[in-house]
Amino acid sequence: MSSEEKKMKLSSNAKVLIVDDIPANIQLLQTFLKMAGYITDTAINGAEALKKVDSFNPDLILLDVMMPKMDGLETCSVLKSRENTHHIPVIMVTALNEIEDKIKGIESGADDFISKPFNKLELLARVKSLLRIKSLHDELAEKVKLLEQAKERLGELAVTDGLTGLYNYRYFKEYITREIRRAKRHHLFFSLIMSDIDYFKNYNDTHGHLAGDEVLKTIAQLMVSNIRSIDVAARYGGEEFALVLPETNKDSARFVAKKLSGLVENQKFPKEETQPNKRITISMGIATFPDNGQSADELIKCADQRLYRAKAEGRNKVIDCD
Ligand code: GH3
Ligand code: MG
Ligand code: MG
Repeated sequence: MSSEEKKMKLSSNAKVLIVDDIPANIQLLQTFLKMAGYITDTAINGAEALKKVDSFNPDLILLDVMMPKMDGLETCSVLKSRENTHHIPVIMVTALNEIEDKIKGIESGADDFISKPFNKLELLARVKSLLRIKSLHDELAEKVKLLEQAKERLGELAVTDGLTGLYNYRYFKEYITREIRRAKRHHLFFSLIMSDIDYFKNYNDTHGHLAGDEVLKTIAQLMVSNIRSIDVAARYGGEEFALVLPETNKDSARFVAKKLSGLVENQKFPKEETQPNKRITISMGIATFPDNGQSADELIKCADQRLYRAKAEGRNKVIDCD
């Protein structure tokens, strides 16, 4: 291999698909490219080329213009119109001086041309240059993908409560406002349940905040795993939770609230016997749209008042009316 040829060799074993209906041409191109260290595969017509692109996943395609049935121009157009192949560089192989072919080639999306009879060094130089662009493109695509993932994660973090993994207050407010708009437009009803842990200060003071945090996490988990996927569970504040139940009337909401408060009551929490009522319990207040309020604030206020009545009436209770 001459020093010129060595320079043409890529360290990464890029994959090149050679498409030509004449076996002698394929063989010649394959010999040049293999010697330069490329991995090659071949196809003898456009249809086969399209199949090979999917299975071989080439970094570059050498495409003969003149082929029976589907010619190189048509094949190139198809490749450049497909989402998963349009980024693969295509070098058109044309007979010498066929200007018209070249113009059509550009129109069909070809990235470069090489004329027959081939000059080996020119061929390798063109292949290498397009592969460099392809590798930059791949790098960029990878970075865009990572950026998209980071953006998605950031979006999730912005609406998530760090301790419990439930939605946070901000998301809850946005969501209930949207839900009111939707319910008004389609004449639907929905319910809001506000919950608060009973005598939680006592638990924190007795066992420490870390133990209290574990209780918050367990209750959050009990809530999310026992509501429908369309329901929204949020941490409203310190030890308060909000549940929005779309298309749920008061009776159904009371059923859900009783089920959840029963689950909390029956859940075994560490050292809960030190609580005034000997166990961890929650109190709940329910408000239903449109009967109990026309805005998010009115509904929250109503559910809150009922929650405080549940406290006043002895705690571990669900209240859904005034
Ligand atoms: P009540 O039955 O009337 O609701 O009594 P309470 O003690 O639960 O109510 P209070 O509002 O007096 O106390 C709430 C307590 O919740 C205060 C604080 O110790 C605890 N708390 C609030 N946020 C957190 C938190 O993020 N982690 C922990 N561990 N405790 C919290
Ligand atoms: Mg409270
Ligand atoms: Mg409390």
